[in-house]
Amino acid sequence: MAEIEREAMEYDVVIVGAGPAGLSAAIRLKQLDADLQVVVLEKGSEVGAHILSGAVLDPSGLNALIPDWKEKGAPLNVEVKEDNFYMLGEAGHVRIPNFPMPPLMNNHGNYIVSMGNVCRWMAEQAEEMGVEIFPGMACSELVYGDKGEVKGVVAGEFGKNPDGTPGPAYEPGMELHGKYVFLGEGVRGSLSKEVIAKFGLSDGKEPQKYGVGMKEIWEIDPAKHKEGTVTHTMGWPLGSNAGGGSFIYHLDNNQVYVGFVVHLNYKNPHLFPYMEFQRFKHHPVVAELLKGGKRVAYGARAITEGGWQSMPKLVAPGVALLGCSAGMVNVPRIKGNHNAMLSGKAAAEAAYEAIKAERVGDELAAYETDVRDGAIGKDLKMVRNVKPMWSKWGLTASLALGGLDMWTNNLLGFSFFGTLGHGKNDAEATEEASKHKPIDYPKPDGVLSFDRLTNVSFSMTNHEESQPCHLRLGNEDTPVRVNLPKFAEPAQRYCPAGVYEVVEKDGQPEFVINFQNCVHCKTCDIKDPSQNITWTTPQGGDGPNYPNM
Ligand SMILES: Cc1cc2nc3c(=O)[nH]c(=O)nc-3n(C[C@H](O)[C@H](O)[C@H](O)COP(=O)(O)OP(=O)(O)OC[C@H]3O[C@@H](n4cnc5c(N)ncnc54)[C@H](O)[C@@H]3O)c2cc1C
Repeated sequence: MAEIEREAMEYDVVIVGAGPAGLSAAIRLKQLDADLQVVVLEKGSEVGAHILSGAVLDPSGLNALIPDWKEKGAPLNVEVKEDNFYMLGEAGHVRIPNFPMPPLMNNHGNYIVSMGNVCRWMAEQAEEMGVEIFPGMACSELVYGDKGEVKGVVAGEFGKNPDGTPGPAYEPGMELHGKYVFLGEGVRGSLSKEVIAKFGLSDGKEPQKYGVGMKEIWEIDPAKHKEGTVTHTMGWPLGSNAGGGSFIYHLDNNQVYVGFVVHLNYKNPHLFPYMEFQRFKHHPVVAELLKGGKRVAYGARAITEGGWQSMPKLVAPGVALLGCSAGMVNVPRIKGNHNAMLSGKAAAEAAYEAIKAERVGDELAAYETDVRDGAIGKDLKMVRNVKPMWSKWGLTASLALGGLDMWTNNLLGFSFFGTLGHGKNDAEATEEASKHKPIDYPKPDGVLSFDRLTNVSFSMTNHEESQPCHLRLGNEDTPVRVNLPKFAEPAQRYCPAGVYEVVEKDGQPEFVINFQNCVHCKTCDIKDPSQNITWTTPQGGDGPNYPNM
């Protein structure tokens, strides 16, 4: 294809992603200097459309960024009143008392929020300050300067034919150049992945680890709704097959977020994370709560779990990784939004100082220092051994040892274990199908549990069908030649949106990619055992349209 000519627009800072990280950076830049030119580009059809985290929000990030958020009407309306932790067996449960939990696990002072709505509110604050926010603009490429520094992104390319050639309504998009480019793409960002590889930012670090999180919003019987209640469970149905667990958060308006996370380092390729989630809802404790209610929304997204030891170097010439682009989730707390906000704020402060000193396109070392030595580093360091302990020694041992480790870190500032490694990445953790038994999952009943495609319709996902498939295979024949015989092609099961199928055509197996269903969770990019699938951005505005997840 001939070289594409694009118009370019110049900014001080270009921000990819209107999540909590990107929006915090934009707001902080304008607080520091109202004359800075700041743009935020978001691939969702609107801000919040791709934000899944129906969350318990630790407000420390927002307190630091907008101390008067309450007066400004931030949608943090439901304070946590009750914190429950259950260990589930198939038919019963044991409540683990709160007192042995280290203080950092306490949700007192936190809020149950729709992060989609929090992001919509943050975008309003940013726009009032003069930030330009463009939703429906997927950033598909990085633009490099003469010295190899990142100097911008390409956004808004539309109308390609399925083979990648320009179609009749082709729009080349634009280049948006900045003195600095911030990547706030969230977990497994496609541009972040390129930057991490190109500049060797993960060299010497442990591999990043992930889980896949699935979530439904339910409207339940008002008699059973207990606004402000947070419940986490572990144990059944995953047992020793995989790490993970559930969350049940009672928001207002009789709504409940019901979610399930499966750690992606599971070995058995027959495991079906989505069906584990569906099965979980039939546990008597959960079934009783949901009986008589209705599921009103569904979505899925990967979550970073590598923590402190997996966090890549955060800066390279012209570019900085914010929030979950660099993996800033505190795993035992299942919280990353506060760190995303703090990282956006820190990156903005570093860029402001650099621009004031007339620097352009270099490394924002002050940002890296702030994250590692400040509140984010402290938060992540304290819990750094919980995930590796769980992976190595299983749930029961890691609950005891991880709890002890968090206590010593919390109280004494040290760990008996030093810093444990994660070992393999999640794709490499997958073992051959012949070593494991297939798992027989009960059929969804259509009342408490649902088949994948029905649930995907509750994510309001939409992709223009005439564009190229955004899920790229390195080798077209690997799924059938390698993954099928060796791993029973796990893409059929690990994808929570039913994108991948193996069908029979003329008596031969054929791998089919229904990219229209993709909810942008990125699990395929992470878990494919041959590491043959690359998630790229489809055209802007496509993907899920989460209402208030
Ligand atoms: C199931 C689940 C439950 C969770 N629960 C909690 C919780 O209770 N509390 C908590 O604090 N944290 C929770 N988290 C973690 C939290 O979601 C993340 O830490 C947080 O979203 C990170 O914020 P971010 O701004 O870095 O990325 P995101 O929130 O993922 O935002 C990234 C944004 O960038 C956009 N984007 C990405 N790539 C591009 C591109 N190339 N071009 C344009 N736009 C792009 C995306 O569409 C998205 O809007 C949970 C995560 C999951 C998956």
